[in-house]
Parts: sequence; structure tokens; C-alpha cells
Amino acid sequence: MKSRYSKLVFDLDGTLYRGRSSIPSAVETINHLKNRADLLFLSNNGNQSATALAQRLRTLGFNVSNDEVISSVTITVEYVSSLQQDASIFVLNSGDLPRALQAAGHRLVAAEEAQFVVVGVDMELTYDKLAQGLFALRNGARFIATNTDAVYPREEGVYPAAGAIVGAFRGMGFEPEQYCGKPDRWAVEKALSLRGMRIGLDCLMVGDHLETDIVGAQNIGVDSVLVLTGVSTREEMIRKGIHPTYVIRDLSELEPILFSDSGSPGG
Ligand SMILES: [Mg+2]
Repeated sequence: MKSRYSKLVFDLDGTLYRGRSSIPSAVETINHLKNRADLLFLSNNGNQSATALAQRLRTLGFNVSNDEVISSVTITVEYVSSLQQDASIFVLNSGDLPRALQAAGHRLVAAEEAQFVVVGVDMELTYDKLAQGLFALRNGARFIATNTDAVYPREEGVYPAAGAIVGAFRGMGFEPEQYCGKPDRWAVEKALSLRGMRIGLDCLMVGDHLETDIVGAQNIGVDSVLVLTGVSTREEMIRKGIHPTYVIRDLSELEPILFSDSGSPGG
């Protein structure tokens, strides 16, 4: 049977895995959908490259290829490259982003030379780095953020994410000109276009986070599925007034939506 939605965009954290474990029924669902729909795995992770995330997914048993995965690292590099070749960048990120920017032909420089300040999660954040970033922004550098997420879940609890560090600069009076992750409309459209997906009624975004996955889907005008295996709850959905097209307990409930004519939107 043909799926009503032929382009499926899956979130990773809280949707397919949590920490080092896959979420029950996620592996079976994804592997069963392989070759039956076009799949994109889109993560707001601004520290891990798409290749690293694809490898992590395969280790957990998901049958995915590198070109099916896009992270905020990919989108951030695309954004900077769309503005300028050979850009001078002061970067606050302890993950794969600095190397990815260099691989795209950009230069990592000290704050005083920076044309761009790019901020993601930096596990080695110091007061001095914040001060350097501030100097660069006051000197007129353009400000770009990997994503807005304030916190992210680890197995041992919730930790500060990129949005927390971006928040330090917002507290100093600077707003990023671009967030390179969900729910930003440009970022989501860019991710789909990099995967060769044309946005339309046959697109469905699936994720666990109302403000990123569901609002991200709404921002590009496509249907969405909230899966209750991660951060957001039904109660939050009502309180925040964010309404996904479908709500499911876990991914075992996804295929009935895809392969029937009588799904139950909002159910
Ligand atoms: Mg998530």
C-alpha cells in the first residue's frame, strides 16, 4: 500500500533514541519504512555532524545512509557559505561545527578578526570566550546560532543546550540574525531542499518537541506528528496551544496514520 505521506521527516533525540538507547518500536518502524517513503532525519544537534549522527543511528540498528541525515551543523555551514566564501569566524562550539566550517573553506579566527560569530553548545565555555564573542559583535560581526533549544535531555538528566549560550549574548543585547535549526522556516526549508524534497501535502514531520518539531512543520505548512516518547506532553500541548495534526504514544502507531485513509487528526 502506498503511504499518504511519501516524504517523512524524523527528529532524532526523543523520537528515535534517548541517550545511548533506541526508543521501543523506533528501529522496527524506520526500517520498515525504508524504501516505502523518502526519509529525512533532521536533528537540531549543533555539535554532531550528519555523518556522526548517521553512524550513531546505524549503531543502534537503524538502516539509514549518511545522505538521509541533516543536523544543525550542516545548516549552519550552508547559511554561512550562502553569505560569504572564505569567511572569518569566531566560533563557540566544542563539537563538529568548527571542523565542518573549515572543511567548507572558512577560517576560524580570534574575535578581533571575526566577520561572524557562530554559537552552538560549547562545553568549554568560559567568561573569557563570552567576552571575546561580545567584542566581536560590538565590532560589527554578524551573529549566527545553531539552534534555539535551551536544554537537551541526556540519560542522566537535562543539560544546557545552544539556546542557553545564545541567551548569554541575547542578555548582552545581541540577537542572532539566523537560527540554523527547527523551527526556523528557512532552516527547515533548507534541510528539505538539501535532501531533494519538495515541500507539499505529502510531507509529514515527526518529532517529540512541540516548539521545534511541530512549530517547524507549521512554519512550512506541512502536517505533523507529536510522538510522546520525548520532552513534550499532551498537557503541554493544550497549555501552549500548539496543535500537531496527529498525536501518538510511540512510533508503533505511525504506520496506521501513513497507510490508512482515516487517520484521526489531533487524536
Ligand atoms: Mg527531539
